Amino acid sequence: MPLHALPTRERLTEVRYEIRGALARRARELETQGRTLVKLNIGNPGNFGFRAPEHLQQAIVQHIADTDPYTHQQGLPQAREAIAAHHAARGGFEVSADRIFVGNGVSELIDISLRALLNPGDEVLLPSPDYPLWSAATILNDGRPVYYQCLPENGFQPDPAEIESLISSRTRAIVLINPNNPTGASYPRETLEAIVAIARKHGVLLMADEIYDHILYDDATFQPLAPLAGDLPCISFGGLSKVHRACGWRVGWAVLSGDRSAMQAYTQAMDLLGALRLCANVPGQVAIEAALNGLDTITPLCSPEGRLFETRRALIEACEASAHLDLVAPAGALYGFPAVTGPAAHAFDDHAFALELLETEDVLIVPGSSFNVPYRNHFRVTLLPQPEVLRDVFARIDRVLEKRAAL
Ligand code: PLP
Repeated sequence: MPLHALPTRERLTEVRYEIRGALARRARELETQGRTLVKLNIGNPGNFGFRAPEHLQQAIVQHIADTDPYTHQQGLPQAREAIAAHHAARGGFEVSADRIFVGNGVSELIDISLRALLNPGDEVLLPSPDYPLWSAATILNDGRPVYYQCLPENGFQPDPAEIESLISSRTRAIVLINPNNPTGASYPRETLEAIVAIARKHGVLLMADEIYDHILYDDATFQPLAPLAGDLPCISFGGLSKVHRACGWRVGWAVLSGDRSAMQAYTQAMDLLGALRLCANVPGQVAIEAALNGLDTITPLCSPEGRLFETRRALIEACEASAHLDLVAPAGALYGFPAVTGPAAHAFDDHAFALELLETEDVLIVPGSSFNVPYRNHFRVTLLPQPEVLRDVFARIDRVLEKRAAL
């Protein structure tokens, strides 16, 4: 007798995470057939020769014997103290360790923080493009993503007036990803202040995904949201995955700020959800204090002569040299988000292009529409490879676009 097919959750049909989706599966097939691919789909520093800094590794090795027990659901006290001190130093803004939650990466905390907030039909204002986990977690927690546009012609900056126009009686939160994945935009203080004023007027939670806070190029600056929000309910997310190149350790944090009594029920909800998953990976938690109190190892990589700076420059030069590409140079984070323009963009489908690039040129990128944008002529690459690898990739990209332009 045939076995019944297992049912799945219906709302999963609305969820996409193409960074690790069908194209990545096809890439694995090609690799098993012996092809050597350049995979620029994931911002995974360890895949490109980066290691977590030595002092973080040593902290784990030194304390590994103490990491057997579960910790408190919010995380090790000394890790939360280090996060509180880091926030105070970064933004001149006191946060209290008892309002900090350590999680298995920012990913887990995005999910928990939305689960603690949303009731069916509640709306969350998300940037378009977004990091698609934000859309997925909103949907899977019974919410509805409502997108505000960060358009390339505006340097991928949000427009506060548009954000306000999208607020409804069901809006529960405004999400900002700053510096942004996938665009690399970093937001000026005035924009953030305008968005804070909207959140205040309409009584909605601010959620600031600041996982790339110290990954900045040229004269770009980073303005944390929480100090501007003051007494307004705000959650700021950070972690070790990018700035400290330790994504496999699964360490992130969520810092709650704003009026304590206004957030009391919400904090208890976060605490309950945190308790249900017991605690975050303890060896990873041990590395937090070492990371935040230790040497700054990311700024040298982003400064002139630094590896990320050089690869970003290779990206900018490749796009300038191409007759088929436009780029808003990333101010921060680990990605470029170029647009295909001109004759090569005629009847363009970013998925078909990504597949063609994979099949014919052995390069894996992420189609722009994976980031919930209404246009289909962008793609994302990570800035993590060596500059010469990126130059070679863009030569291959141009070859495909040249053929398309000639059609
Ligand atoms: N938020 C953004 C904007 C990201 O780009 C990522 C990972 O790429 C995450 C969150 C998740 O990071 P973590 O490794 O801490 O789960």
